[in-house]
Amino acid sequence: AVQNGSPRKRLDIVVVGGGLVGSLEALYLAKRGHRVRLYEYREDIRKSPQARGRSINLALSIRGRKALRDVGLEDHMVKKHGIPMTGRRIHRTDGSTYVIPYDSRTNQCIYSVGRNYLNSLLLQESERYENVERHFNHKLIEANLRKGTLKFQKTDTNQDVDVNADLIIGADGAFSAVRKAMMKQPLFDYSQTYIEHGYLELCIPADESGGFQMPANYLHIWPRGEFMMIALPNQDCSWTVTLFMPFTNFQNLDTEDKLIEFFEKYFPDSIPLIGKKKLIEDFFIGKPSPLVAVKCRPYHVANKALLIGDAAHAVVPFYGQGMNAGFEDCTLLDQLFQKHKDDLVSILEEFSKTRWQDTFAISDLAMYNYIEMRDLVTRPSYRVRKAMDDIVFWLLPNFWVPLYNSVTFSTMPYSQCVKNRQWQDKVLKITLLFLGAVVLTGVWMRRNNVV
Ligand code: FAD
Repeated sequence: AVQNGSPRKRLDIVVVGGGLVGSLEALYLAKRGHRVRLYEYREDIRKSPQARGRSINLALSIRGRKALRDVGLEDHMVKKHGIPMTGRRIHRTDGSTYVIPYDSRTNQCIYSVGRNYLNSLLLQESERYENVERHFNHKLIEANLRKGTLKFQKTDTNQDVDVNADLIIGADGAFSAVRKAMMKQPLFDYSQTYIEHGYLELCIPADESGGFQMPANYLHIWPRGEFMMIALPNQDCSWTVTLFMPFTNFQNLDTEDKLIEFFEKYFPDSIPLIGKKKLIEDFFIGKPSPLVAVKCRPYHVANKALLIGDAAHAVVPFYGQGMNAGFEDCTLLDQLFQKHKDDLVSILEEFSKTRWQDTFAISDLAMYNYIEMRDLVTRPSYRVRKAMDDIVFWLLPNFWVPLYNSVTFSTMPYSQCVKNRQWQDKVLKITLLFLGAVVLTGVWMRRNNVV
């Protein structure tokens, strides 16, 4: 067994949900030497690799990487498996493309990683710790969070299993059963917002020689104003293509002819890449999935229960930060275990008190970024603002970090990233007003022969 920490008391911790965040949290806790039992509704993803998550691949950035580094998996994930994406590659309707780099100053990039691969890797790593137990096919059906008691139903035998814990960590995703139990607590705030757009996944296969059909190291975007399509590269040289669109638009595409006509109008260059037959098959087999954002607080109940990951703060996927923020929860929680020497009252209280501002901030940023990705990127005003940001960032890298860079390539608290953007907006506005006034004064003086 591998154990780095030396806890004062070996806590008995139950993690509900063995998705990305729950299985990472189990590793952090195992490293600290606690007893960890991980309960997951689905069967073991390592035995059913075709089981689909909510997206086939995801963008991993610095916050997620930091967490993977802490548990010794960053190099494996990034160097062996991740596909670097250095910028957005924008597809116009005429099929031509151009690139907007993420970071023209130091060439930082994000990485496309397979969801199932990463989840399996995290679970596999937990096998190295004798203090971790994994229980698959266990669905949480009841919880008394103040007492620390849980009831699971085994999905293969329908048998009930009762469990006690010193601490319950709810990492059971956007529709969390632990959160449902928390909602019975007084003073627990909760809101959920479904956006009117859904998403559907398509696929661009590898070419005949097994290579990529498009330049691999980009996040490809087809921005079309009210809707958009994106594509992220996979290890097998295929692309996972995601169409984000209002549900009403999906409903209107109810025949093969309408679908092809729609793609010919908006995404003509993608048709030969996907293949007409495959496009029709994949489109009509699938059903668009909804996108929900959840905000709630506080994240804990006494010294007994805590929410992390999507269970605490599901966000829409347009900043590529949902998993990264969930992984950051685990890092911050680990730092609090260290700071408060495993004292659960202080750890949970501080987590609840300090984390919500940042998760609320990334939730709002993600909503905004959908408009940027599907619409604003194509506008000259966006390109001018980005160019100004890049120039000042290049001149004053420690002083002026553009919003996207601070969110994606730094571990600056999300709420601070937003505050930075607000003062940067003010500075640019005042500078532009000042320059405008200088130019106007110059023109007026010339006209009136003042000089
Ligand atoms: P989940 O991944 O939902 O895992 C929860 C686990 O809990 C599941 O395994 C589930 O089976 C289990 N569970 C649920 N209920 C119970 C129960 N009652 N009992 C026991 N177990 C239970 N994030 C990024 O950072 N980058 C991206 O590029 C990105 N792209 C995305 C694209 C799309 C289309 C979507 C929808 C999301 C994207 N995200 C992205 C967000 C990311 O998928 C989530 O933030 C991440 O999966 C959260 O992990 P989690 O472990 O908290 O929740």
